[in-house]
Amino acid sequence: MLASLSLISCAPNAEKEQAEFDYKVERFADLEILRYEVTGFDELTLDQKKLIYYLQEAALQGRDILFDQNGKWNLAIRKTLETIYTDYQGDRTTDEWAAFETYTKQVWFANGIHHHYSSDKFLPAFSAEFFAEAVKSVDANKLPVRDGETVEDLIATLTPIMFDPTVMPKRTNQADGEDLILTSAGNYYDGVTQQEAEAFYNAMKDPKDETPISYGLNSRLVKRNGKIYEEVYKIDGRYGDAIARIVEWLEKAAGVAENDAQKAVIEKLIEYYRTGDLRTFDEYAILWVQDLDSRIDFVNGFTESYGDPIGLKASWESIVNFKDLEASRRTQLISENAQWFEENSPTDKRFKKDNVKGVAAKVITAAILAGDCYPSTPIGINLPNANWIRATHGSKSVTIDNLTGAYAEAAKGNGFNEEFVYSDVERELLAQYGGITGDLHTDLHECLGHGSGKLLPGVDPDALRSHGSTLEEARADLFALYYMADTKLVELGIIPNDEAYKACYYQQMMNGLMTQLHRIEPGKDIEESHMRDRQLIAAWAYDLGKAENVMEIVVVDGKRYVKINDYVKLREIFGQQLAEIQRIKSEGDYEAGRILVEKYAVKVDADLHNEVLARYEALNLAPYKGFVNPVYVAEYDAEGNITNVTLDYTEGYAEQMLRYSTEYATLPVYND
Ligand code: ZN
Repeated sequence: MLASLSLISCAPNAEKEQAEFDYKVERFADLEILRYEVTGFDELTLDQKKLIYYLQEAALQGRDILFDQNGKWNLAIRKTLETIYTDYQGDRTTDEWAAFETYTKQVWFANGIHHHYSSDKFLPAFSAEFFAEAVKSVDANKLPVRDGETVEDLIATLTPIMFDPTVMPKRTNQADGEDLILTSAGNYYDGVTQQEAEAFYNAMKDPKDETPISYGLNSRLVKRNGKIYEEVYKIDGRYGDAIARIVEWLEKAAGVAENDAQKAVIEKLIEYYRTGDLRTFDEYAILWVQDLDSRIDFVNGFTESYGDPIGLKASWESIVNFKDLEASRRTQLISENAQWFEENSPTDKRFKKDNVKGVAAKVITAAILAGDCYPSTPIGINLPNANWIRATHGSKSVTIDNLTGAYAEAAKGNGFNEEFVYSDVERELLAQYGGITGDLHTDLHECLGHGSGKLLPGVDPDALRSHGSTLEEARADLFALYYMADTKLVELGIIPNDEAYKACYYQQMMNGLMTQLHRIEPGKDIEESHMRDRQLIAAWAYDLGKAENVMEIVVVDGKRYVKINDYVKLREIFGQQLAEIQRIKSEGDYEAGRILVEKYAVKVDADLHNEVLARYEALNLAPYKGFVNPVYVAEYDAEGNITNVTLDYTEGYAEQMLRYSTEYATLPVYND
């Protein structure tokens, strides 16, 4: 599971002053591209640097997989756009051209034609006529024209897919009551209905199996000539060309592993990529979660299932990282006390774990981002996702320090808090404690929240169905919010005093009730599960506190502000909510979960929404951010051995995307 960016407006930690480094790369559409620094890389040993070098190569080889998973036309569209981008001989000073450049950059950012966050198709601001003219103006041999077809055929195929708002309008449709598979443009299913897919996987499930594999995780489900079967992602299966190259680099990485445990992890992952066997994937996940001593760590594979409307199939991603030894002290302390937190949480005894195992938490420095972690990235990761592995073997949880640091640096002085925060009192709180409580919220969410609680015997882990991710994220957030105000954290010395939590509470309520709406287009509902989770908590808490005026919406000069009157009472409310969400999860109470989500998490007050959009727009900020990667440069001796690895931070956004599309073009454009 992922923690996504919720605290971009928080003040950064003052001590993280890194004025030398240039964090900002460029802005376009609703996006801002930043750069992150791989702090501490130079201090690693040569073998550690080599390991990171090989793993980052393995990471970059998977890029095409995600494009294809996000939609079957994405690679063809990307290839076409890139050919025009580099070869177009026409006038590059027109508005049409500027719109074309923006669209191409958006497609790179989203790894496809649907918005990375909302999953709505974004439309080009240039005309279909311009597109046709541009396609015809470049060398046809460089275009993805299929055998027996012409450039005109290519234009005719791609035009409605790019320009017609009714064609493939959503990548991942979550609207209750529709066939979520048929109405989603993602490429995890082909020719099957939701009912057929659910029946296919339900038939595989054995309710008595206590160690079930993650059914359907690494395949596309297709129906051909009336027969439904899986196309498994593996070296001699679907995406085999890309997987072969990933494996090649993983083999090199295994040769310089830091220790036997890490070597075993890499070798098991290779075995899984060769066989596609989900039992092997679970064995790999167990080895991975047990490898706690290595400094360097990585994720490389089909991991998160947010992109599948029914939550089974995973998108490909990779992140390579190494432990930030100093900052890990904080999360170490939290995880050492995991049992205390479990026992003292406001949830019912029946839903608590007797023994919270191995919630290993650490703070890491990201070294490369790839697949579904690039350019938009999580700031925390908690894996593996299989419930029984988490229950038996624990999970590993990380917060990614150099990315949150880069966000904070880039957001300095952007005017957001001046516009939306109620008064100087709250602004002062945020300036003083926003940074630390923001990091801590992520830690608690990842280290404790997701790992806490248990299902009652016999409860299907997928019982909450399409609302599962929203409720799970809410559970983890509420766990974090509840404990943020606990004196235990002050005792442990990880929060400076018993006032600091208020910064986080204010942030949560302001964001959940108001400011996150700036990410939603006018007239749209909330779709993304972390956003639903935040509004669910805030709107529901608002209702629960109404009678006692725990918080209110105050209007000053026609602008609305969130004002919290009673922080202590708000904490009680968070505790009450946590207990209920845990009950819903533990009992698999789909109906209660559905009612909560539908009442609080989805719908948007149009009036408030418009106000937030207008005020936000006046600030001229980008709602979404992402990163370019550094370039890893290996130096070799005469025998071909790596003698050093250095980092180059000068590569631009388009430059990087075009280079990746050339050097890491690992799949055919069409993967039918
Ligand atoms: Zn989460």
